[in-house]
Amino acid sequence: STLQSVEWTVDSRARARRITEQFRQEFGGEPALWARAPGRVDLMGSHTDYNLGFVLTLPISKDTWIAARPREDDLVRMRSMNLSAADEFHLGQIDRADDAKWRNYIRGVPAILRQEGLALKGCDAIVHSTVPLESGLSSSAALECALATVFEALGGWRLLPQRKAQLCQRAENEFAGVNCGILDQYSACLGLDGCALLLDCRNLSTRTVHIAENIHVVICNTMSRRRLSGGEYAQRRAECEQGAAILGVKALRDLAPGDLAAGRHQLSDTVARRCEFIVAESARVELLAQALSGDDRKAVAALCAGSFAGAKDLYEIVSPAMETMMACMLGAPGVLGARQAGAGFGGCMVALVDAAQTSAFRASVIDSYSRSTQKAPEIWPVTGARGAEAFHL
Ligand code: ADP
Ligand code: MG
Repeated sequence: STLQSVEWTVDSRARARRITEQFRQEFGGEPALWARAPGRVDLMGSHTDYNLGFVLTLPISKDTWIAARPREDDLVRMRSMNLSAADEFHLGQIDRADDAKWRNYIRGVPAILRQEGLALKGCDAIVHSTVPLESGLSSSAALECALATVFEALGGWRLLPQRKAQLCQRAENEFAGVNCGILDQYSACLGLDGCALLLDCRNLSTRTVHIAENIHVVICNTMSRRRLSGGEYAQRRAECEQGAAILGVKALRDLAPGDLAAGRHQLSDTVARRCEFIVAESARVELLAQALSGDDRKAVAALCAGSFAGAKDLYEIVSPAMETMMACMLGAPGVLGARQAGAGFGGCMVALVDAAQTSAFRASVIDSYSRSTQKAPEIWPVTGARGAEAFHL
């Protein structure tokens, strides 16, 4: 197939060699174990996770690898090849770092595992990720879940993937200070080869969704930074919570059809629009799952269009770069539907593309987006990937 011969294929042998080389330089000797966890792209369900609604998520073939070796003491030494930065701390006393944000993503994981009474071993480790950082594909959860898997392998115990996800979410909430929902860590832990997952964020059940073979998922990176700074995300969350409280439900997930229309007059215009988006977006999840598995192209187009329109007008998470990318994706050959991904505010978007035209789609978006913005976008066809796991070379 056309997918195998092009440059977006990551050669995992070359990658392992580079990481091993870095390990030798940094620590001397060889790594003893490897762990990985995937990033993810949401195919439907923006901001529905913290409203305890539904999400259709695809754990992707871009992932974070950690090569590690146990130590006799309780020291953890870790270097990230993505940031060219190192961290060092003792498991007996894990403090939050004020100087470098990434350290709290690392430190939070063993801190929470330790609170759970799990036995932890010190280690030397190298981190390498092909998930772009801060682009909406959840590099943070990939890092946390890969790291939890390292401690699992070193400690000789096993966590259920669901529990691993919840502990990593807690690590991000409490240590990195990001009030994220469960979507990212769940995707990083529960992925299955070649499959999307339909996640119910209330009871944390998942259902496997098989996307029709002649539809490809293509991630399109606007290359513009998300200006999330916590503020916009926290504000959306607060608005949803306010809406739920006024309407008398625990979470927006609990609104029955008609509840919002009946109670709308009690809400400010902004809060009403936020609620309207979440209710409609969550309802689109099951429909898109059916459309993708049944190759119902009309439905794919309509559902994606509805999602993007709502993100723009009701939830207001669409940046100018995203509007430009949307126009480029919709103007490219083979496109079936396109929408935002992640939290919005720039970063990556996602297109569903006729499999026979993926290369033409990619070339067209690169050309049109580069001409509009003077920035070359990164375009990645992706497939469903397995969740966090230890592996051997
Ligand atoms: P996203 O999860 O969408 O990529 P976040 O802002 O949630 O964006 O998390 C990104 C942060 O996670 C980075 O700024 C960094 O602090 C940390 N991080 C993720 N992956 C790595 C990595 N490979 N090396 C070092 N830090 C990482
Ligand atoms: Mg993240």
